[in-house]
Amino acid sequence: MVLSMRAALPPQRVNLRTPEVMLEVQAAVESHYHSPMVEHLRASGGVATFGDVTVRLAKQFGFCYGVERAIDLAYAARKVFAERNLYLVGEIIHNPEVNAQLAAMGICTLAGPCQLADIDKLSPEDVVIVPAFGAEVAVHERIKARGCQIVDTTCGDVMSVWKRVRQYANDGVTSIIHGKSDHEETRATSSRARSAGGGGHYLVVYDLAETEYLCHYLRQGGDRAAFLDKFRGACSEGFDPDRHLGKVGVANQTTMLRSETEEVQQRIRAAVTARDGSEANFRVFDTICGATQERQDALLDLLARPPDLMLVVGGYNSSNTTHLADLAQEKLPTYFVLNADCLESPQHIRHFDTRMRREVTAGDWLPAGPISVGITAGASCPSNLIEDVILRLLKLREISAPEQA
Ligand code: SF4
Repeated sequence: MVLSMRAALPPQRVNLRTPEVMLEVQAAVESHYHSPMVEHLRASGGVATFGDVTVRLAKQFGFCYGVERAIDLAYAARKVFAERNLYLVGEIIHNPEVNAQLAAMGICTLAGPCQLADIDKLSPEDVVIVPAFGAEVAVHERIKARGCQIVDTTCGDVMSVWKRVRQYANDGVTSIIHGKSDHEETRATSSRARSAGGGGHYLVVYDLAETEYLCHYLRQGGDRAAFLDKFRGACSEGFDPDRHLGKVGVANQTTMLRSETEEVQQRIRAAVTARDGSEANFRVFDTICGATQERQDALLDLLARPPDLMLVVGGYNSSNTTHLADLAQEKLPTYFVLNADCLESPQHIRHFDTRMRREVTAGDWLPAGPISVGITAGASCPSNLIEDVILRLLKLREISAPEQA
């Protein structure tokens, strides 16, 4: 099915995932991102020894259901709207290889570092894909106002966070969002707090240090100007800590570290209770998604019998991958790599330092002799990149690639 420009106007509900389209989509997606070697490893319990290198894959890793759906829909949109201009709001997911693949398919980005087009110049013939993290309400409205056909790939788990903060706003409760204020998902979520309940308020806390600062203010008040300065860009317009922290409800970006999110919830609950003598003005709803949880649990499982070192594969701007790297590096030498090229030699590996937030080079990372290497990957990392990393690792140890690779 290919919809021409004329046939597709005005915007209409189109079922992109028809059996005939999906057959072609699956074939293309498999050819771009699948890895028989990784599937073989997964099917055989995730452990394989090649020469003196034992590879141990976490039980859950790589593409999540939300990312698979978003990619399927983007590929289906390319097929169905073959004759129309196709745009993407920002990155579809946080993986440069996948984004480059979509760009090669002629899908243009409307925001972010790779922006190639402007929303205000779109026309009703254009088709716009909303990524898995969703988009801010204002961005959605601007695209709708241009009359474009919208292909919305927002993950259902993200939408359930939106539902929660809308509910908080409708009830006059300020949303405290545990997340990264400049992450697409958190921007989209916080915009839902503003658009509901006549303009609800929100505050984004990134980590335990910011949570503690907030809790101190909840208990004892403090310097309003300093508070606003600290949370500049991370709270709603017109937010006043002296007026808008009376009733608070906690939600979180879906990809945060579970243990940290629980600690954030617990500390804010304790601060509100200490201030009010009851929990009446505190609400909470855990919005870590199932896929994030499964990947963190699987990694903890793997770390219970630690390998000698850990490779975490994924985009450096991927929140869930960063948290996997954080979890692993608490226990053992861990290298968060973008792709196989990062494994430069047995002496040098380029990897992302999650504390310094930049790529660094480590030396003598691959010890000689028998070694076990744990591997996991974030929810936005395709299997072919994991395979590349394993093959590169074996090559550095001068071990021939296994047959199925
Ligand atoms: S990481 Fe979670 S919320 Fe994000 S796309 Fe995947 S399943 Fe959905």
